[in-house]
Amino acid sequence: MKIVVQKFGGTSVATPQLREMVADRIEEAREEDYGVVVVVSAMGRTGDPYATDTLKNLALKVCPDSTLRELDLIMSCGEIISSVVMANTLQARGIPARAMTGFQAGMLTDEEFSQAEVSSCKPDKILEALQGGEVVIAAGFQGISENKEITTLGRGGSDTSAVILGAALNAEKVEIFTDVSGVMTADPKLLEEARIIDHLTYSEVCHMAYEGAKVIHPPAVEIAMQHNVSLVIKNPAESGRGTLINNEYSEQKGFHKRKRIITGIAHADDLVQLKVKLPPDGSISELDLFQQLADAKISIDMITVFPEVKVFSILQPLLAKGEKLLKEMKVDYEVIKGCAKVSVIGVAMRNIPGVMAQVVKALNQQEIKILQTGDSNISISLLMEEKDLKRAIKALHDHFELGKVQEIPAETF
Ligand code: ADP
Ligand code: MG
Repeated sequence: MKIVVQKFGGTSVATPQLREMVADRIEEAREEDYGVVVVVSAMGRTGDPYATDTLKNLALKVCPDSTLRELDLIMSCGEIISSVVMANTLQARGIPARAMTGFQAGMLTDEEFSQAEVSSCKPDKILEALQGGEVVIAAGFQGISENKEITTLGRGGSDTSAVILGAALNAEKVEIFTDVSGVMTADPKLLEEARIIDHLTYSEVCHMAYEGAKVIHPPAVEIAMQHNVSLVIKNPAESGRGTLINNEYSEQKGFHKRKRIITGIAHADDLVQLKVKLPPDGSISELDLFQQLADAKISIDMITVFPEVKVFSILQPLLAKGEKLLKEMKVDYEVIKGCAKVSVIGVAMRNIPGVMAQVVKALNQQEIKILQTGDSNISISLLMEEKDLKRAIKALHDHFELGKVQEIPAETF
């Protein structure tokens, strides 16, 4: 049986009208003879009665120090409710459908509450339902540990649930339906003229996701890459093809080189930059500093190490914890609050000289101050003040002409 996994995000299942549209997409897949496995997120956004944050706040209101275990348990209810409502929407149309929790769908995880990782997936119950002609609606974002604890996979975790089920079921493709047309050249919420990207490689999307483009959960892309699962990101309300994500160049026959150096721009905000000066007497080493940050579970980014000074950024909500630690260590430090990071990404920038010069030129023209930079072989990231974020995205988008559709498909060699 050929299988498709379709994942619908919170905004796609928020209202009865939207759920009818989801049912249309499911019916279409059935008409194409697919066995259909649907993964749903909780319905709606904060404030909506069954949204993840609403449920979480319900517990936190009673006990602000609620354990992560209890929070995971209450948050997992959002997806379960959503899966039942969606299965009932299909049943009301006469389509046989069965709702399942993550646990019933076979998602086994470790026991890192709030950010559990899936260790294995045993979808025998799903296969049984598919063989019986039923559509399976699985609750995303959750699993169960060996010790029978209910866990959640972190924000955006339903994308990961969908990809893991796709790999475990050997699905032909995994379709991620969301509120945008596909992966865009920049976040359309910050740049109106952002354009849809038709085809991306796993590594490009992975970089975009890790650099803040929340259109897909980063681990979902990594797992898709490991298992060679084709991903399609699209909007359930649109007939367009969306964005196809698969192996480099596999869409085209022969070997091709991209003309465009930059494919997309990602951003992350709510960051602070820290500059830590270690005492000259060597009483605290750079290892002490980084180890203590790690022990406190403070994730650091944009790391630059000079002999005297260590510079890095952390998420704003972790600042109080970070400052407490630095004060206890008795080290001097400076903080710049209200920072954001913009990253330009493209596989074709590998070994091409001058990309940094172009990035700097585009930002200098807008008088945007670069606080720090970081890079990988397919990305350049720039830390700046948050007030410059929107202008920086626009400047880079214009400079690299990302709004223009690439007319020549590719240069063959
Ligand atoms: P869902 O609930 O469907 O999982 P998310 O809110 O997690 O949806 O992800 C979709 C959002 O990702 C979009 O509304 C958009 O604002 C944001 N986004 C950020 N960067 C990009 C990008 N490059 N392309 C598309 N969407 C992006
Ligand atoms: Mg998401």
